[in-house]
Amino acid sequence: LGDAMTDVDALERLRAECLECTRCGLAKTRTKVVFADGNPQAPLVIVGEGPGEEEDRSGVPFVGRAGRLLDRVLVENALTRKWVYICNTVKCRAYNIEGARARNRPPSAEEAEACRPFLERQLKLIRPVVILCLGAPASNAVIHRDFRITQERGKWFTDNPFAPWVIASWHP
Ligand code: SF4
Repeated sequence: LGDAMTDVDALERLRAECLECTRCGLAKTRTKVVFADGNPQAPLVIVGEGPGEEEDRSGVPFVGRAGRLLDRVLVENALTRKWVYICNTVKCRAYNIEGARARNRPPSAEEAEACRPFLERQLKLIRPVVILCLGAPASNAVIHRDFRITQERGKWFTDNPFAPWVIASWHP
C-alpha cells in the first residue's frame, strides 16, 4: 500500500463536515451525501463525476451500473476496492425531473465549484501516487478547467498539485 501517513482522523472530520453541507442546491434534493469508499491509504485514487440514484440511496460511490463495471475492471487488474480510494467531484446527486423520472445529469459548474474544497481537501489528506479521473467533471476539477476528454484522455499529467501521476479516461 501507499503512503501510510494519511491522516485518517482528519479525513473522518472532513467526512463529518461534508455530511452536513448545504453549500449548494443539491443539498435540498439529496438522500445521502456520498463522501468516499475504499482505502484512504491506497496509492490510487479514482475520482468520478457524482452520485447517481443508487449511490444517493446507499451513500456509497460507484454502486450502480457504472460501479459494477468499475469493480469488474478492478478485478481484471487484480485489484479490489481495498486497494483503491474512490470519491466523486460532487458529493450529492445532480438530476433533472423528466416526466415521472429523475434523470442523472452532470453537475453544473457552480455545483462543482461549491464542492471543490471537499475534493481538494480529500486529495491533500490522502496524497495518492496516482489519480485516475473518470469523465470530464473530474478531469476539470483535478487536472485543468479546460480539459477535453476526447483529446486529453490517456495522457499522463506529472505537474499536478494532488499527485505525481494523474490520468483521465471516460466515465464508465
Ligand atoms: Fe455540499 Fe458538495 Fe453536496 Fe453541494 S454537492 S451540498 S457543495 S457536499
